Amino acid sequence: MTDFPSPSDRPKAAKSTAFALFRPVLVAVGVIALALGGLVLSHRSNPEIAGLDRQAPASPAALVPVVLVDPEPAPPLTAAEFKGSAFQGLELKGFQMKPPDPGAEPEPPASDRYELTLRLERGDTVEKMLADIDVPEADRKQIAEKLQKLLKKKKLATGETIELLMQTMPEQPDAPRVLSLSVRPQPEREYIVSRKDDGSYEAEEKTYKVSPRIVRVEGERDGSLQQSGIKAGAPSAAMVEFIRAMSYDVDFQRELKQGQKFTVLLEQLVTSDGLVTHPGRLLAGELRLLKRTVTVIRFRPQGGADGFYNPQGESVVRSFLRTPMDASKLTSRFGMREHPILGFSALHAGVDFSAASGTPILAAGTGKVAMAGFNGGYGLYVKLQHTQDVATAYAHMSRLGPGIKPGVSVRQGQVIGFVGSTGMSTGPHLHYEFHRGGRPVNPLAQKFAMRATVGGKDLARFQALTRQYLNQMKNAPAATDMNKPAPQKTSQAPKEPATPQVARGD
Ligand SMILES: [Zn+2]
Repeated sequence: MTDFPSPSDRPKAAKSTAFALFRPVLVAVGVIALALGGLVLSHRSNPEIAGLDRQAPASPAALVPVVLVDPEPAPPLTAAEFKGSAFQGLELKGFQMKPPDPGAEPEPPASDRYELTLRLERGDTVEKMLADIDVPEADRKQIAEKLQKLLKKKKLATGETIELLMQTMPEQPDAPRVLSLSVRPQPEREYIVSRKDDGSYEAEEKTYKVSPRIVRVEGERDGSLQQSGIKAGAPSAAMVEFIRAMSYDVDFQRELKQGQKFTVLLEQLVTSDGLVTHPGRLLAGELRLLKRTVTVIRFRPQGGADGFYNPQGESVVRSFLRTPMDASKLTSRFGMREHPILGFSALHAGVDFSAASGTPILAAGTGKVAMAGFNGGYGLYVKLQHTQDVATAYAHMSRLGPGIKPGVSVRQGQVIGFVGSTGMSTGPHLHYEFHRGGRPVNPLAQKFAMRATVGGKDLARFQALTRQYLNQMKNAPAATDMNKPAPQKTSQAPKEPATPQVARGD
């Protein structure tokens, strides 16, 4: 990416005696620099958010490594989508600089104050930057020294935004004064160097309190659910959590349709002057399907970890996963069909999910390995016995998961093998069967028991929280009205899921 403006462009812009003429140019340069800075920064990981995520207790749902089958893989964000989300704030930020006021022309050249926003380039220093805009040497040395004292050993990062309040004096039009310089490397910390009446500089550190704020994001499914959420202003991580929490209950293949509405309730972290330092942790969510509305509530039982529950207090985590695989695509349903290899009509005793060869296959539930090895047309095959009545089977694997052999116990979500195309198969996919009383049944038609319910001492607290969240999902301020992202804190672009391969086989 090209650096613009380059440090060498700065003197050209500022050296002019008729400064007023160049002011619009400077503003434009500043806006472009900010936008480009934002582009760079949005591709950098945000250590703060990552840190917060680590601190957040893992919910039971998050422990199960299942990404839900959203029928279409999320496309990468387009420029237009960027504009609609993370970039909105940056553009606004750019316009915080005073635009030239046409009504005030012609301006008296005397004691002209103006704001300037510059960006630290690679290998740049604050002193060098001030030299580029012709700040006299004595001033810039003092400013740099005062700032460094305040920063102690900390170094400002490339791309850091420096806000300047400048003044040109009529007697020295080529040597502008810095009235104040401020930099805010973290949203809660601002460093300011300002000029005193006697011409010396003093430095101060301003800290801002960070506190939580509850906001709501409403959207309509257009494309994948995750992308629709991001477009509506929800952070990607919160949408992933929302989809996971829904996944135990919602059949994404059949129930999810375009245009369906959803609401997510988020807890953001905001500085006392309104900058968002964390884009939002999912507190609750609601998905309005054709025939029903599914609601999930985050709750932490006493002595337990955060998890998602339905409003009745039942954990969304169920005894069986709906899909024993990551990012898979349903390619063949349970029932009678013409066999793709044998050519005659037969019962398809399971469901097929296409996926790239080597994709991990997860145990749909906790149980014991009943079979693990080659099994005729099934190829490399694993059968798990979960209860006396219920078993699951996984076919056409390329290899078994670590330690998988008959007789060993497995936990829900454990890797039991990897997608392949062994046996009677025309391409890499998982053939998945669900057995009840020894007979194959349609896995997607099964109702699975909820795992845990809120009870005892937790119940009253849960019910109050549920009432509050349900109310806030209707009445909390909309995130789009409130968002004013912190400087250079932008939400990360979501990872594009692996594109599933199309399997044509059994
Ligand atoms: Zn099959």
